[in-house]
Amino acid sequence: MGKLNVSMLRYLSSEEFRVLTAVEMGMKNHELVPSPLVASIADLKHGGSHKILRELTKHKLVCYEKSGRVEGYRLTFSGYDYLALKALTTRGSVQSVGNQIGVGKESDIFIIADEEENQHALKLHRLGRTSFRKLKQKRDYLKHRKNVSWLYLSRLAAVKEYAYMKALHDNGYPVPRPIDFNRHAVVMELVDGHPLCQVHDVSDPSELYSDLMELIVRLGSFGLIHCDFNEFNLIINDRDQVTVIDFPQMVSISHPNAQWYFDRDVQCIRDFFFRRFSYSSELYPQFADIKRLHNLDVEVEASGFTRDMSDSFDETQNLYIPQATADFNACEGGSVRKADNEEKNTSDEQDESDNDDIAEQSLEDNSVETRGPEHDLS
Ligand code: ADP
Ligand code: MG
Repeated sequence: MGKLNVSMLRYLSSEEFRVLTAVEMGMKNHELVPSPLVASIADLKHGGSHKILRELTKHKLVCYEKSGRVEGYRLTFSGYDYLALKALTTRGSVQSVGNQIGVGKESDIFIIADEEENQHALKLHRLGRTSFRKLKQKRDYLKHRKNVSWLYLSRLAAVKEYAYMKALHDNGYPVPRPIDFNRHAVVMELVDGHPLCQVHDVSDPSELYSDLMELIVRLGSFGLIHCDFNEFNLIINDRDQVTVIDFPQMVSISHPNAQWYFDRDVQCIRDFFFRRFSYSSELYPQFADIKRLHNLDVEVEASGFTRDMSDSFDETQNLYIPQATADFNACEGGSVRKADNEEKNTSDEQDESDNDDIAEQSLEDNSVETRGPEHDLS
């Protein structure tokens, strides 16, 4: 099962690219874009967009669907990957795509090389593997927004991640250097080291513990809480230095539930250190101890996205991280992987019945796919 079909990048004609882009544009207002609308947006000189749509369908860049009286085409994750990679390639941020390295809960992470053969990490956000239509039928959460879709959410996650990474990096906080982003794709520094979850030996657990608690407190002084500060999102190098990753779920210390999120981040680290290193300490930071020195929360929000966008994102995040189901769609067969931290978000009220058998099964599917030789995109 190919998660990233980069070999297709070379073979799309400019007309095919035009039609693919037309489907993306149509999806701003339509879940399924009717073929005549695609034709009118693409506006090909000699017509033939219908035939091209069939071709794109064969390559799984778009998908044809009929649901009730509505029928038409929608972009697949592969199609969206194509568009993002094409843009990143055009400006030289990506030249070739190599192995998949990351098993994220809602992303795929690859090693890529840029024009100068520098290696970086590419994170493709994949939100909404859960069927949105099903969610919409069940509940009214999203009625204020007509077309919240995986496409919108995945792009928003990338915007948020890039914006926080940039703000933190500019302030000397240990995060990967942000390099570029487009749509749902973020290019960043490839961090040297291993996620803490894979680390069994550290020279001094107590020192690493206090480094991590300091990082939580320092994030607080910027006005931020990570909300997923755990062994899966902390990369440790061979000198036991820490890099923090994975920011789309970050919240402000002014968030109504800030204290709860803060305490959970702290508790995650305490629990992990007890489990892994039999280390426990009476010393750990309290929310009340945070001294705000910066307003990165406010600055990022003002630069990257509106309050409203951010709210609807957080809302939907809480909706489906815990209830990841595998029914995203038939034509992509996307698998759902383990959440970074399975305990997370369980305190949010959740409808247990949403976790059906398919979800149980697919959660076991935690394998990383690797690829053979690098695919040259040029
Ligand atoms: P998710 O939001 O899906 O959890 P993450 O950003 O946490 O995605 O990435 C998933 C995994 O990929 C991480 O646990 C880590 O092993 C790896 N990874 C992510 N970003 C980088 C990076 N910049 N450098 C090296 N490894 C990374
Ligand atoms: Mg993660």
